[in-house]
Amino acid sequence: MSITANDPTRKTWLEVPENSDFPIQNIPFGVFLTRDDIITIGTRIGDTAIDLGALHQLGYFEGIPLTDDIFLQDTLNDFISDGKKTWRLVRNRIADIFDKNNGKLRDHEEHRKVVLFGLDEIEMQLPVQVGDYTDFYSSKEHATNVGSMFRDPENALLPNWLHIPVGYHGRSSSIIPSGIPVHRPKGQTKPKDADQPVFGPSKRVDFELEMAFITTDANHLGEPIPIDEAEDYIFGLVLFNDWSARDIQTWEYVPLGPFLAKNFASSISPWIVTLDALEPFRIESPKPEVELLPYLQSSGKKSFDIELEVFIQPENGEETKVSQSNFKHMYWNMSQQLAHHTVNGCPVISGDMMGSGTISGPTPDSYGSMLELSWKGEKPVKLNDGTTRTFIEDNDTVTMRGFCKRENYRIGFGEVSTKLLPVFEPKKK
Ligand code: MN
Repeated sequence: MSITANDPTRKTWLEVPENSDFPIQNIPFGVFLTRDDIITIGTRIGDTAIDLGALHQLGYFEGIPLTDDIFLQDTLNDFISDGKKTWRLVRNRIADIFDKNNGKLRDHEEHRKVVLFGLDEIEMQLPVQVGDYTDFYSSKEHATNVGSMFRDPENALLPNWLHIPVGYHGRSSSIIPSGIPVHRPKGQTKPKDADQPVFGPSKRVDFELEMAFITTDANHLGEPIPIDEAEDYIFGLVLFNDWSARDIQTWEYVPLGPFLAKNFASSISPWIVTLDALEPFRIESPKPEVELLPYLQSSGKKSFDIELEVFIQPENGEETKVSQSNFKHMYWNMSQQLAHHTVNGCPVISGDMMGSGTISGPTPDSYGSMLELSWKGEKPVKLNDGTTRTFIEDNDTVTMRGFCKRENYRIGFGEVSTKLLPVFEPKKK
């Protein structure tokens, strides 16, 4: 089935600001609370949010096999379970409804009133109930930087890294949408020259610039997903800030990997941009540097050219861009990650979230964490207001943005923006 929703020449009757991340060719999916306090599934064109539940009730999806309440839910999990064919039919239909030359909704004021919302009238929610969250470690530049800092620059990559998309199982209960602030975590650390650990606020709170993909029901227990089929089970992507406490991480991570340093929060952008919408921006992954085992050999353009930016904004100050990277730098692509994740028969279900790992590029201005940008605190990063940062300070806001670009054509993710609050203090009774 062709993806007519991607037609680059299509224009819409809705107003779309120049350089919007959300032209009619994007049609992402999200969940929002409306001005009437109703939760619904929706999409977005320009700065207009569109209530898909209302559109469905009014008959605009006639002919597409959908249950009556598919969009009247507080998560996208059931819609994602319907599978790729249905996602395509729905995106194509939305493109058709909002096509400049289609008067059906355009000229129906009563319908428009219940379907369309300004962004200031809605509140974005978490788009899926995340059953399981896995975080990979798939940027060679990031793994090399971290390995050089903490172990040995001569042997920065551990022997398995070029053979396995390394990952760990994270915690889904602390995945939150953009806009929800996060408290600086407390924890156990061991200062460099101390012989005993101490307890207190983390002094090295960091962001990790990542993207995450969201899956549909993919396989049963015991059944691996072949690498060539992996993309059929990927619904779409979001921006992902995997908050990290480096001092807690350094002390706790051997031998089982990160634990409390990572599970206090991970923030995501609220609109899921579908893999279909990203089709025009496919690009080849870096060539493997060693021969891969057959189940990990992928062919064709399996990566995507997505420009990524990170900004830090002090309280009451202006924001400073501190990093500029690209998803295409990932050494391991999503197909390899999903094939590897399931090769032992581990089941993946609708709403599972897979983080890419920190996306660092080859140059120092493209590193995806403060740990690397400030080289473990040795090179402070200068902000526009003259202050410097080695890690994130209380009341700083970290914002990540991402978009794909061709001449006159842009598909974006919006942003994930999170304020770091001081440590949590219990209210006095
Ligand atoms: Mn991470």
